[in-house]
Amino acid sequence: MKKHTFFFIWGLLLAFSGYDSQAQSSRWQQSIHYQMEVDMDVSTNRYQGTQTIAYSNHSPDTLYRVFFHLYYNAFQPNSMMDERSRTISDPDRRVGDRIAHLSPEEIGYMRVNSLQMNGQSVAMEEVGSVLEVSLQEPILPNSTVIFESEFEAQVPLQVRRSGRDNAEGIRYSMAQWYPKLANYDEQGWHANPYIGREFYGTWGNFDVKITIDKNYVLGGTGYLQNAHEIGHGYEAPGERTKKSNESRLTWHFYAPQVHDFMWAADPDFTHDKLVMENGITLHFLYEKNSKTEKNWEALQEYTRKAMVYFSEHYGQYPYQQFSVIQGGDGGMEYPMSTLITGQRTLGSLVGVTVHELAHSWFQGVLGSNESLYPWMDEGFTTFASNRCMAAIFSEEPSGFPQLGAYVSYEKLAKSGLEEPMATHADHYHTNTAYGVAAYSKGALFLAQLGYIIGEEVRDEAMLHYWDQWKFKHPNANDITRVMEKASGLELDWFKEYWVYTTKSIDYAISSVSEENGQTKVTLERKGLMPMPIDFVITYENGRKETIYLPLTIMRGNKVEEAGFPERVRTQRWPWTHTRTEIILDEPLSAIQSLSIDPSLRLADINRDDNDWVRE
Ligand SMILES: [Zn+2]
Repeated sequence: MKKHTFFFIWGLLLAFSGYDSQAQSSRWQQSIHYQMEVDMDVSTNRYQGTQTIAYSNHSPDTLYRVFFHLYYNAFQPNSMMDERSRTISDPDRRVGDRIAHLSPEEIGYMRVNSLQMNGQSVAMEEVGSVLEVSLQEPILPNSTVIFESEFEAQVPLQVRRSGRDNAEGIRYSMAQWYPKLANYDEQGWHANPYIGREFYGTWGNFDVKITIDKNYVLGGTGYLQNAHEIGHGYEAPGERTKKSNESRLTWHFYAPQVHDFMWAADPDFTHDKLVMENGITLHFLYEKNSKTEKNWEALQEYTRKAMVYFSEHYGQYPYQQFSVIQGGDGGMEYPMSTLITGQRTLGSLVGVTVHELAHSWFQGVLGSNESLYPWMDEGFTTFASNRCMAAIFSEEPSGFPQLGAYVSYEKLAKSGLEEPMATHADHYHTNTAYGVAAYSKGALFLAQLGYIIGEEVRDEAMLHYWDQWKFKHPNANDITRVMEKASGLELDWFKEYWVYTTKSIDYAISSVSEENGQTKVTLERKGLMPMPIDFVITYENGRKETIYLPLTIMRGNKVEEAGFPERVRTQRWPWTHTRTEIILDEPLSAIQSLSIDPSLRLADINRDDNDWVRE
């Protein structure tokens, strides 16, 4: 391991200089530097690896144990992933009972054969997809320790996210492929077994060398360090690559400040590149044939547009490359890259790429814990990618890009299957409840905030969110506080109802009558979740007015939004009162219609009673 000292020290320095700039954050976080060398045998689909980790404990705690994820062990009959998939009422079709039927050559495994900390052996126990490690010497606060290990693994037949020989014939989709130290944060260890849901990791640098048959073309997280030896389209324009006589090549990647590292390899990959004006390089790796050729060429320009769109609206993309790689079993995001299935219509191909690229902001760089807050990744990604697709793909941009999220949330809320969005991602009773909560209700978290505080205020706050929380693993409270500071409103009530309960929104116009030449309107909160109300009156003469009814507990009003009728009155509504009365000075005959939230942004699950229209 001595020969790695140079890279090791170099990386360590980079790791620490990277974290200095975040010293103003009051929340500590661990940091890590991985250095790995793996040797892949493409005839057996097995590989051997060495791993050196520099792990810095910035917590105030002394650590006596550490935990490594051994994700590939999930792809074995009777694993927790297998059992869960065979017993849940609505299994993921990609998994189903396939794990139970994997042969010894098709299963995945990952074994740590030796592990030392600071040169001392440690006690370890493999428990399914987690390695439990008891340390001889504890890791003290503000110290850095070195873990050195040797490991071996077999790539499972592609079942979920990673594996070999996927449905489109891609040989290796190498996600979750190395012993990964679990993250330790202010909520303790997150040594989640691999059951189905997504990931959480410690920020750091990855220095990875992969030795493989020379006919394979690789892509993934990280910048290729030896492009002049590799070629395959990675070399600089006009650069001549050194031809090696060896039957195998060693690809050397380096990825700074990421929390995971994915790679993919196939002997038939075509490698296209697009260098953007701002210097970011987009890589596209796919098997070129009649099903892919045209659409993957068209995809390049859409990916460029989406990169520009997201950087403008959600924060500047902080890396120099992004790779779209055919592989996996649908679409899955990784730092600086994504694995997607590639034989799709253009709309589907662009849609999945835009979605996975949007993850670079929420999963890749903000990096919320996807077990505890999957909606802060999938939901915000859905929200951002819906808007991006409306902006770059549709012929006529839709005025309502989140429509699908509203429809699917409403269906779930009425189904009786809904569970609180705060449920741990693996512990939902059904996949449906997880999926709709994480993707749709999570997208509506931001859509509802737009309604509550104003869309312009929310959009600006999203950029503050990026500035304050990139590379810091924000939680549900952190995003809420950003929105509170941007709007000057109290929003804790919104977070508490929307995230921690399944209470839903249902408002109604319950009566309209005339008394002494005035019109009396009674509004009713029928649902258990209170919300502010934009109430719009349209008079017979065409004039429109808004009466704004904020919740008393908001302690303020949203700004007036452009494009809405003049706000003539603000009338606070205490949530304890299920009814409130609005008195209009005009007689009933002067009124054409009345409407609760004509913008349709309020996630009211029963809109039939939101309008009154003169017969
Ligand atoms: Zn996603």
